This record gives sequence, C-alpha cells and structure tokens, in this order.
Amino acid sequence: MLLVATDQACVQHDTGPGHPERARRLQAALDGVTAAALKDAVVALEMRSATLEELARVHPPEYLDALQRFCAAGGGAVDPDTAVSEGSWRAATHAAGAGLAAIEALRRGEGEAAFLAVRPPGHHALAARPMGFCLLNNVAVAAANLAAEGERVLVLDWDAHHGNGTEAIFWDDPRVLYVSTHQHGRGVYPGTGALDDVGGEGARGTTLNLPFPAMTTGDTYLRALDEVVAPAVEAFAPTWVLVSAGYDAHRADPLTHMGLSAGDFADIARRVAAFAPQPGRLVLFLEGGYDLDALTESVGASLAAILEQSYRPEPATSGGPGGSVIDAARRLRDEFG
Ligand SMILES: [Zn+2]
Repeated sequence: MLLVATDQACVQHDTGPGHPERARRLQAALDGVTAAALKDAVVALEMRSATLEELARVHPPEYLDALQRFCAAGGGAVDPDTAVSEGSWRAATHAAGAGLAAIEALRRGEGEAAFLAVRPPGHHALAARPMGFCLLNNVAVAAANLAAEGERVLVLDWDAHHGNGTEAIFWDDPRVLYVSTHQHGRGVYPGTGALDDVGGEGARGTTLNLPFPAMTTGDTYLRALDEVVAPAVEAFAPTWVLVSAGYDAHRADPLTHMGLSAGDFADIARRVAAFAPQPGRLVLFLEGGYDLDALTESVGASLAAILEQSYRPEPATSGGPGGSVIDAARRLRDEFG
C-alpha cells in the first residue's frame, strides 16, 4: 500500500494572487492518484505538526520564533519570491511534520512507501532563512531526525531546481547523501549545484550534483541514475530514501525549461524506489511543479511506477542534451574511488 498525506492546514498558506506556488497544486497532485486508478492501493495518512524540538534539528529556535511571530502578525513578503499569510506557520509545521508522521507509519509496517502532498515546499529553505517559496526544509527535517537516530539517509532531489537549502544543511554531514538533478545555466534559479560541489571536509562525496542544461530528456536522467547515482547509492548503503519530488522538470512547466514527460517520471521513480533497502523505507515529498495538468499526470505516473503498476499518459522522451554532464560526473566520482 501507498500512504498518501495531505491536510487542510497546507491549503491555508496563502501566497497571494497570481503566485505559481498556489493551493490548487495540492488537489492537482492528488488527482494523479485518481487518474492513475490507484485508489485501491492508497491509504490516507494523518499528518501532524512537527514539534519545535524536531524542527530544531535543522532550524535555530530564533528563526522558528521569528517566522511564527511574522505569520501570526498577518504575514507579508519574506523573500523576493516568497510571501506568507497568517496560516503559513501552521501549514509549514504540518508540511515538515508530514515526513515524521510518514516515517512513524512506515516503521509500523502500514505501507511500502509514502507520498506527501504538502506545501509550502521545502528544499530551498536554509537553516535560518526562507527562500524560493520555502519556509521550513521539510525533507531536511525528516532526514535530520532519522540521522539523529543512527539512520543513513539518501535524499534524492529530482525537482528541476537545485535544492540549495538541503545541500547546505547537510554539506558537512556524512550521514546524509544528497543527490540532485537540476537545470543549470545562466540565470537559472537558485544558481547553486555545480558538479564539483561534492560536500565539505569529512563529508566529501556525500553531495552529488547533476547540473543539466535546458531541454534535457528522460534518457539522460535514466543514464545518470544508472551510471552515476546507483554506484554512489550502493557505496553509501542508505537505510532510508527520501525524495524531494518536484515535477517542474516536466516540459510543460512554466518556470523551467527541462524536457521531461509524465512517462519519464514513471521511469525515474521506478529506479529511485529501487534504491530503498527494503519496502517501507521510501518517502516522497512534493516540492515544485507549476503546470497543474502536468503535475496530475506526472504524480500519477510516478506513484503508479512505485506500486509496480503502469500509468503512462505520455511516452518517455529522448534525444536531448546533457550526456557530457554524466561523463564528467563519472570522472569526478572515480576520484573518490
Ligand atoms: Zn523547483
């Protein structure tokens, strides 16, 4: 069974008129479950708010306090791209708590994997600063709490943007392997995620960036997962796999220029699910994805693939650029033996 979490609290985060990171995205993501005819394979997972102690494994108490007070006072802009409302604190703490609730439920044996339809997203949030539509780093809070319990955590980030917040939080932490595929190039947000950014002293090799050019297609993603990511994951031997599942690398997305289809998300998700050491150790966090139809189809396709069912509303793509990134990444990994 697949555990699926969503909560009205996440709808109450109001980013203002015309903002791409809007509440309707949640229903669009959940519609993917219906579109892929997965209802019989899905169980609702009750979310909870993360506690301050759990959040403090990533975010300093002063930051949490300031954010909570800013929201309580009515909100406003916290970053050039990010606005919050009164409901945003509750939304953010529930989005961060969803990962912890999923881990608890999976440990009780309630499912093989979990998908969290949450917002605000998290992977740009730094320890002490909101950024890029993100307030709290949802996937990092889950990873940090697992690591504190002695687990080894793979965070695989297939969002089209580099998860600069997650990378920075675990830069010096050898207990978390952070792997990101993202669009890279002049003017691309947030501008981090270079190939040779591999982690700090004592954690070298536990950051793995695959910065792809615009229009990269599914065949290149699969080759990267097979030739670069799979050996690194095997060597790291994670006990949990957390996915920053953004769907904005879809070719219809209005914010980025990547070349993926819903069929590619099925193929990518199948490979990533295989990185989990056993059933019940896989959690997907919704990050980006701003074309609602593409979001529905891509979520449906990826969740169907994880359940070993087939839903491919679009065929896989191939023939785009990016192959040289894989060759360079392989050479760099060879240096780590
Ligand atoms: Zn994104």
